[in-house]
Amino acid sequence: MTATTLVILGASGDLTQRLLMPALYRLHTLGLTSDLRIIGYAKEAWSRQHFEKHIHEALQAFAPDFKTADWNRFRRQLDYVGGELQADQLAALKDKLAPSTLFYLALPPPLFGVAATALGEAGFSKNPRGGWRRLVVEKPFGTDLASAQELRARMHDHWDEEQILRIDHFLGKETTQNLMVFRFANRFLEPIWNAQHIAQVQITYAETLGVEQRAAYYDKAGALRDMLQNHLMQLFSLAAMEPPSSWDAEVLRDHKVEVLRSVIPITAGSVNKHAVRGQYRAGKLGRKKLAGYRAEPGIKRGSDTETFAALRLEVDNWRWHGVPFYLRSGKRLASNYSEIAVQFREVPGPIPHAVDAGNNWMIFRIRPVERMDLLVTAKQPGGKLAGRPATLSALYATPDDREFSAYEQLLMDALGGDRSHFLRFDEVEWAWKVLTPVLNAWQKGAPDFYAAGSEGPDTQARLLDPDHHWRSIALDGGDQV
Ligand code: NAP
Repeated sequence: MTATTLVILGASGDLTQRLLMPALYRLHTLGLTSDLRIIGYAKEAWSRQHFEKHIHEALQAFAPDFKTADWNRFRRQLDYVGGELQADQLAALKDKLAPSTLFYLALPPPLFGVAATALGEAGFSKNPRGGWRRLVVEKPFGTDLASAQELRARMHDHWDEEQILRIDHFLGKETTQNLMVFRFANRFLEPIWNAQHIAQVQITYAETLGVEQRAAYYDKAGALRDMLQNHLMQLFSLAAMEPPSSWDAEVLRDHKVEVLRSVIPITAGSVNKHAVRGQYRAGKLGRKKLAGYRAEPGIKRGSDTETFAALRLEVDNWRWHGVPFYLRSGKRLASNYSEIAVQFREVPGPIPHAVDAGNNWMIFRIRPVERMDLLVTAKQPGGKLAGRPATLSALYATPDDREFSAYEQLLMDALGGDRSHFLRFDEVEWAWKVLTPVLNAWQKGAPDFYAAGSEGPDTQARLLDPDHHWRSIALDGGDQV
């Protein structure tokens, strides 16, 4: 890599400590960023030594393979500049920037526009001769359609769309990227990846965690904005998109947008058919007693914010006509369990004795293990021609593989100029468009309650076709069929 600078704005924050620096450190230990200079920028008037100490402590806590010898090399890549998000103060960075510089906005979302403008006014958004300037923006991008469009307009005052890399770390996850490889590299799959053969798709991201340290943010955002609008909609568009004609970033993103454009619009009158919201009450996980959401520190009294959201989306195109896509995510559920589960239609028969004709699922497990499972029926050993469930399993990674974390992957892509796994604005915009009627409807009324440690509210069942059932969260993705 030629000499490049990475400037992290918000370098004193949690994201920098827990995710960005450990990722940069690992890339350094792998020899992938030897010519990278990393400049932390934050409002604290720290010396470079103080910043190093801060990052040293962070890496000791959060870098899995921390070694002092590696640290002593890595620290030489670090620098620090203190200042506010104003052009005249950012100007102190000027002489430290290589022609090719990546600015990373590790800032609270209300500051994305402020920072993009200030960097532009400081003259840092113009690609210099022989180099480039790029801007990574963290999530969430807006809090609704109007605010996302406003933010985009503000950013475009100084930055071109090609320079803006909107991060959704799910797109950096190995298992997410595997969805594309697995779908488009295996001949047997494409002929059956359609409404003729697929009955339903369930995308679940379940957490046992509550709101933890994020109460102030979460109580304003809720599960729909925090998880569905971005991460789960991305998994949905990757699962449903048409085969792209190339792996060019624009082609790939055109195909993902096309899925979102094809979603049958949810209307004010159909919200209840398409969306369920829930909020956890006190409950138990194992023996541990858990407080209800409204009793969590930092949550507004009587808050109606949803901690669980489920959606039923239908795609109006030839491939998916009549196939429901169910998406759901929630906090304080029965386990940490995430998957994309695709159920094939029943065989027409005649079928051998004791066979569950609906037992064909392709499951991409994301947590707690990264694994692909094909649930099938095979012969029950013994006399009769009878069947029983069997699973064809493949662990995604072997111990010899060098896996990248999502942030390692996306930082490499951002530095290398690969925009494939970053969100183009129309993806963000369409995701907001799909969900706006739901957000509007949820301004009023209250969520349905569920006990902490459970499978979520019972009312989620109303989204399903009569012959469908939600896969169990409590089984932890184990042997359930
Ligand atoms: P954070 O710890 O609250 O703060 C990030 C940085 O912003 C800090 O350097 C903070 O400086 C600075 N800052 C706050 N208010 C400021 C102001 N008025 N003027 C100038 N600087 C200000 O936030 P974070 O958790 O690192 O999150 C940063 C971004 O990453 C957010 O957009 C978040 O949604 C996203 N994100 C975070 C995580 C995570 O695990 N933390 C995960 C995914 C995405 P001070 O320290 O001086 O306040």
